Amino acid sequence: MIISITMNPSIDISYPLETLHLDTVNRVTNVTKTAGGKGLNVARVLHQSGADILASGLVGGHFGAFIQEKLSKEGICHHFFMIEGETRNCIAILHQGKQTEILEQGPSITNDEAKEFLSHFDQMIEQASMLTFSGSLPAGLPDDYYKDMIDLCHKKHKSVVLDCSGRALQNALKGQIKPLLIKPNREELAALLGRNVENTITDLKEALMSPLFDGIEWVVVSLGADGVFAKHYDTFYQVKIPPIEVVNPVGSGDAMIAGLAQALDYKQSDEKVLKHGNVLGMLNVQEKVTGQVNMQNYRVLFDQIQIKKV
Ligand code: ATP
Repeated sequence: MIISITMNPSIDISYPLETLHLDTVNRVTNVTKTAGGKGLNVARVLHQSGADILASGLVGGHFGAFIQEKLSKEGICHHFFMIEGETRNCIAILHQGKQTEILEQGPSITNDEAKEFLSHFDQMIEQASMLTFSGSLPAGLPDDYYKDMIDLCHKKHKSVVLDCSGRALQNALKGQIKPLLIKPNREELAALLGRNVENTITDLKEALMSPLFDGIEWVVVSLGADGVFAKHYDTFYQVKIPPIEVVNPVGSGDAMIAGLAQALDYKQSDEKVLKHGNVLGMLNVQEKVTGQVNMQNYRVLFDQIQIKKV
């Protein structure tokens, strides 16, 4: 079973408007409210691609209950830790071809909750064959919290796929025990290295040879429509994908994480790991709803992906 962790989930609210009028009333009819957060996208995509999945993390209050209800309705197993604070809402206003987002910071986690979650998590790890940690850490948790979670996984010989950015990622990489895979996009990679990274084989290769990545088995740099540049131990891969119609690219990184984790869990070859990750990312791009894939289109995309050792 793969356990997907979301430490700061949200109810994602979408308001489609013809035009957004400022400083006056906007009325909206087609409201959608979904269980959101990067790890929940991962869980949904894994569920849709047939994996055995458990979603976990922190939820609180009525909004936390709403998230659990939504997941249950979708048939996704979950086992969250309840906190005192209320789970957040994130609002996306879709107007004139644009997306204006209002993102709540979310609840602040107390020291006791931080400690208690670690023991809740420690008990769950046993059931996992692989774990994914996605997204930001909520306020109140130290920046090295993912590092502590990775250490607990290591003690039980479980691998972690980590998808976060900023200080949470920097601190997780400082630990002696490393995640199995990280998947920065080019901007996140640049932020990590403190320098611009060009979309060229030479520059990407040089970037991934940084000592920062020593001990991390897989570093996968996602490049949107340009596919992926990846390093597995000392082997570098350039992965080219075919052009596709873009419906909604949001969450394609999460769908890719789902694919990479699933293929690694099945101990697939490098080629299959990279292809499966890219196909799930691309399938998400072709769907209107964030964090969804339609597996019917799988094979045709899989067969068009080209992988080259560089
Ligand atoms: P997000 O933050 O929205 O989840 P990300 O920045 O983490 O995305 P991307 O690099 O944008 O991740 O996309 C991940 C993968 O999804 C890509 O490597 C690719 O396989 C697929 N993908 C994303 N955008 C496109 C696109 N426009 N056309 C084809 N495939 C895409």
